[in-house]
Amino acid sequence: MIGAIAGDIIGSVYEFNDIKTTDFPLFGPGCGFTDDSVHTVALADSILSGTDYTGKLKEYYAYYPHAGYGGMFRRWVSSPKTAPYNSFGNGSAMRVSPVGYAFSTLDEVLRQAEASAAVTHNHPEGIKGAQATAAAIFLARQGASKDEIREYVENVFAYDLSEPLESIREWYRFDETCQGTVPQAIIAFLESEDCESAVRNAVSLGGDSDTLACITGGIAQAFYGGVPKDITEKALELLDDRLRGITVTFMDRFCPGWLTA
Ligand SMILES: [Mg+2]
Repeated sequence: MIGAIAGDIIGSVYEFNDIKTTDFPLFGPGCGFTDDSVHTVALADSILSGTDYTGKLKEYYAYYPHAGYGGMFRRWVSSPKTAPYNSFGNGSAMRVSPVGYAFSTLDEVLRQAEASAAVTHNHPEGIKGAQATAAAIFLARQGASKDEIREYVENVFAYDLSEPLESIREWYRFDETCQGTVPQAIIAFLESEDCESAVRNAVSLGGDSDTLACITGGIAQAFYGGVPKDITEKALELLDDRLRGITVTFMDRFCPGWLTA
């Protein structure tokens, strides 16, 4: 989950500023956490406290009303009604990493990913994006190879993961759907050599950089057995006390040894 947060922070300054290269300052001037991190921590808090996802998403919106949310989410969260709005936006995938870490079977991860998405993103593509991301994290945690992760995601979710990053980079534009974000984020991970290159790959696509890097970073953390200490420390430093506190508690509980990765 710290990999997802680091990805969000690193990508935050490139969301509306495509760079199309992996060569950029990792924590550039002005970078900071956005809705991706807020929602990730909200889900982590929900899992740690055993409370429902809707309540925590609404609670965290009240803490951070200006974190860059989408319009549909803002309408939902500000309304007393809690019915989902059939979204297939990438919000369900950007917030799901804690689910991939906290549950101990693939079935449970898939069920919880669906539950965490369905409170807002109950469109089949919204659920699929969350499930594919969480499943990739779970499989990576379990020691699956990149080929195994690729094959599972292609077979179960029918995402096409065959196009090389170099080719995607040519045409990729801002796309805030799950189906226009999750496959590309997974490919960014598949072509990486370590956590840092995974996040750099994601940002290099352009488009919704913080969300791409958040999804990629969450998977890379699981696959590479943690996030390098310098990146972890910088990401924690850029959170506030509340977000940092929940992140540390979650990581201590579900990713033991994370600070020495
Ligand atoms: Mg964002």
